[in-house]
Parts: sequence; structure tokens; C-alpha cells
Amino acid sequence: MDIRKLVKPNIRSLRAYQAEEIPCRVKLDANESPFGMTVLKSVRTNRYPDPGARELRKLVAAELRVRPENVLHGNGSDELIYCLIAAFGGPVMYPVPTFSMYGIIAQALGERRIEVPLDGAFDLDIKNCASHVKKSRPRLVFLSSPNNPTGNSFSHDRIVRIIRQSGGIVVVDEAYQPFSDKKSFVPLLKKHRNLVVLRTLSKIGLAALRVGFMIADKDVVTEVNKVRLPFNVNALSQKVATDALRNREQRKGNINRIVAGRKMLLKNLEGIEGITVYPSDANFILFRVNNGDRVHRELLRHGILIRNMKGVAEGCLRVSVGAERENRAFLKALRVLM
Ligand SMILES: *Cc1c(COP(=O)(O)O)cnc(C)c1O
Repeated sequence: MDIRKLVKPNIRSLRAYQAEEIPCRVKLDANESPFGMTVLKSVRTNRYPDPGARELRKLVAAELRVRPENVLHGNGSDELIYCLIAAFGGPVMYPVPTFSMYGIIAQALGERRIEVPLDGAFDLDIKNCASHVKKSRPRLVFLSSPNNPTGNSFSHDRIVRIIRQSGGIVVVDEAYQPFSDKKSFVPLLKKHRNLVVLRTLSKIGLAALRVGFMIADKDVVTEVNKVRLPFNVNALSQKVATDALRNREQRKGNINRIVAGRKMLLKNLEGIEGITVYPSDANFILFRVNNGDRVHRELLRHGILIRNMKGVAEGCLRVSVGAERENRAFLKALRVLM
């Protein structure tokens, strides 16, 4: 597969911005100030950040057992979704309900959207997907697995089938993979050049930093990198993200606590009459009640805010796994009003 042929013609002929770094004693080339301010001891606020986020990418590459040239950094994975659509264009296909940004960004960039409803178990409707892939030849397919807002992972073999059938790029968005015991698609990158995996630090306690990653074939990285703005991830975020990722113990510990909280919430929700709970591999749970609007509103009267999925998944509410105390408060209020 020639990745360069997949990309939009205007991108094909583009060259990535080169912010070259020339070692020097006196740096007067970038209109920076010589006077930094004390924010974080190790961050020089007066200089532009490393446009290649090399340390951070090296760390992520090592963790995922790929090479740094297979990793591209984004100001959140949202930005990488934007870059992917900017580089490859539409049609952009994705199942519904799913993460809203695929559709919003595709529309913002004027690309055609193909929405394929999930099946009754919120899994990929493989027949429908296959026929749309054949008929409309989407240049990009976005599959969030585990899926937001349904919480489940799509069947591994259905995703693989779409990757195989598609003549375009297939993005598996693994924003919630750290909470799942299903296999990541990162190891499959070697076999499928049109596969892109998205990761983010946002759901594992670092949402404030706005750091996400795309893992892909180096030709895909080269093309997408052309539309990335040079200093998209700031120096503070690069530094804090690097330090945070190195603290593996705390990171894994927090993830384990969320998974334990999810189990507790699931078990308790299943025991409340009038609630249908959906399985979750993520850090949130989708559930259905008779009167979603009322439950949502009444919870808020108790000071508890969850997400009303009205218009996306009818009658459904989505609750994020919080700290033990928050989960208990949510369950208590829910029991009172059910
Ligand atoms: C939250 C979320 C993201 C956004 O991640 P950022 O890195 O914060 O931009 C991407 N994909 C899915 C499926 C999400 O739920």
C-alpha cells in the first residue's frame, strides 16, 4: 500500500515544517526572550519547546515497543484526529454512537461523513461496514475501542476485517485501552500499514496537559506530521508528561483503582431495579433508565453530575468512575431516586 497515494494531493506535495536545531552559544534566531520566568525548575520558559517532543516520544515508543519514528505527538488526541482528517480527507466513516469529535472535525473540514449504526450489542455491524467500505471507499475509518460512550470494546476480529477490507486508513482510538484487559492493536501495526492507533494521557490523570499520541507506520507519520503545527505540545506539558509517565507505579496504581471502582459500580448498578447496565472496558459506565432526563436532573439536585446521552443513546446516562467516596455518593443518590 502506497501511503503517499492515499493522502490528499495538496498534502502529498507539502513538506513538513523544519524547525532545525543548531547547537550554539548565543541563540538569537527565533525572536525568543533571553529572560525566562520561574515556573518549573527544569523548563526554560523563554525558549520554544522541542517541536519533535523527542524525549516524550522516545518514552512512549519504548513503552509500546515501537520506534520513535512510529509515534507522533498531539495537543491531545483530538488534535491528531484533526491532523489525520486534514491529511487524508474524507469520506470519513465511523460507527454511531461513538466519540463525537470524529464527526465534528470531519464536518469542520468539509469532509463527507458516513455513519454506520452499531449492532444491538454495540458491536460493529460488520455487514453494513463492509458494504459502506466497498461502496464509498472511506479514506479514514475511526473505531474507538473501547468505545465512548458505550464502554464496550469491539470484537477484535471485526476490527481486523475492516482493516483488511479498507483501502484507506483505519484508526483504532485506544483512549480507554489502559482500563481494558483486551489486547491493544499496537502489535498489529507491523502487519497492517493502513492501521493507526491513537492513545491519550487525558483519561489516566493528565487531562490538563493536553497530550496524545498517534502510533503508525512511519510513512503515515511523515504525511500527518506535515499538517501538525510545529510547537503543538508546549514545554511544560512535555516535561510533566515525561516525568509522569516515568512514574509507572503511580500510573498503574491509579488505573487499578479505577478498574476496581468500575467493578464496584457495575455490581451495584446491576442490583438496582429499573436500570439496564452495559458492560465496560473503560473508565465510565453506560446505563439505561426509564426516564433518563429525570434521573439526570434529580442526580444534579443531589449535586451529582453525570452525562445525559439523550440524542446519542436514547434513555442512556454515562457515569465516569470516580474516587471511592464519589462512587458511593452517586450510588446512594441513585438508589434514593429510583
Ligand atoms: C476523551 C477521548 C479522546 C480525547 O482525548 P484528548 O487526548 O483529551 O484529546 C479521544 N478519543 C476518545 C474516544 C475519547 O473518549
